[in-house]
Amino acid sequence: MPERSVAELLELDRRHVWHPYGPMPGRREPLVVESASGVRLRLADGSGELVDGMSSWWSAIHGYNHPVLNEAARGQLERMSHVMFGGLTHEPAVRLAKLLVDVSPDGLEHVFLADSGSVSVEVAVKMCLQYWRSLGRPEKQRLLTWRGGYHGDTWQPMSVCDPEGGMHELWSGVLPRQVFADAPPAGYEEAYAEHLRSTVERHAGELAAVIVEPVVQGAGGMRFHSPAYLRVLREACDAHDVLLVFDEIATGFGRTGALFAAGHAAVTPDVMCVGKALTGGYLTMAATLCTARVARGISRGEVPVLAHGPTFMGNPLAAAVACASVELLLGQDWLAEVERIEAGLREGLAPAAGLPGVRDVRVLGAIGVVQLDHAVDMRAATEAAVREGVWLRPFRDLIYTMPPYVTGDADVARIARAVCAAAKEG
Ligand code: PMP
Repeated sequence: MPERSVAELLELDRRHVWHPYGPMPGRREPLVVESASGVRLRLADGSGELVDGMSSWWSAIHGYNHPVLNEAARGQLERMSHVMFGGLTHEPAVRLAKLLVDVSPDGLEHVFLADSGSVSVEVAVKMCLQYWRSLGRPEKQRLLTWRGGYHGDTWQPMSVCDPEGGMHELWSGVLPRQVFADAPPAGYEEAYAEHLRSTVERHAGELAAVIVEPVVQGAGGMRFHSPAYLRVLREACDAHDVLLVFDEIATGFGRTGALFAAGHAAVTPDVMCVGKALTGGYLTMAATLCTARVARGISRGEVPVLAHGPTFMGNPLAAAVACASVELLLGQDWLAEVERIEAGLREGLAPAAGLPGVRDVRVLGAIGVVQLDHAVDMRAATEAAVREGVWLRPFRDLIYTMPPYVTGDADVARIARAVCAAAKEG
């Protein structure tokens, strides 16, 4: 393999590689990462290491190059890295499904192992639409969500992303037409709860499901809302024959201070999506869980199968690492770690509130957000963080962090300093 210099890699990257939400050829120079260990990313240009403030988009909760996850991957690699899932099964997938059923809210019993968060949302939507078709109610085929959400970049998930968020506006008029309630306010407001109830009731005849991110809206704006709205939605859905889907892809596995954000409200959805931290960020795998009611409904239909079966469904390597990651999480006092990071972020981000141009500072679990009153200058903000030795990825008017749970106190403080510096310069 030819050894390429960093400059050569960057030139080839610019010419040939698509990056998320990137133009072709690329405009901005990415940083080249050579390796990663613990909470540190080592850069290939010899400039040193960055503390990871992003957990590779919510996923690397245990940090990088973790011996337990490495061993799970290595052990499974020696046995079988992949095998088709149609007509065959294997221990890692079965063990993972059982583990997910055991740790998720009571009542979720069946697990579809998808290969990305977006696909798990596609599967969730398909489950809901098919459920009502099977019951002879094909008119129930729309989704209700609240504004400000984000559920992925494939077709159905895009249709329930924030319609004004700018991410998917290109496709307005082409995407399935869904029903949008107002975005949830930060605190609890009875008037908003009533708005949710009446919107569900008004559209119930055409609604297959309500789909929301519980407690934290992530990529749509990093907003936090009261768990009480989840109970309002559960009651409204039950009263009006509508299924309830929670997208826990970002919030799952402890990030908000509950194993799943639904736990803050003690609500069980009919369908739940998980991803990102499922494999500790090692491999691409997500899952859609549903209740026996949903599964039985689908199985009673004219087409009694869920017609979805991606090539890499149930990938054994990813499943083995996912089992190791979930067991690693449950085998430690993860809540104490998340609360420790929460306290560190609260303290470290407090000075940001006094900065000019800062609209809001908010912290929940191992998530810290500084919201500006203007669009962030991404390059200036990122460079300010890098000067502090920290990797952040600001967007829109937001500078935010969700560090790995293994981030030590000094590194949490450093991340908070970097967020403040980025807010000052961005
Ligand atoms: N739902 C939520 C809440 C997410 O945060 C994301 C990823 N940002 C997705 C769905 C899509 O997941 P993926 O990027 O793995 O397709």
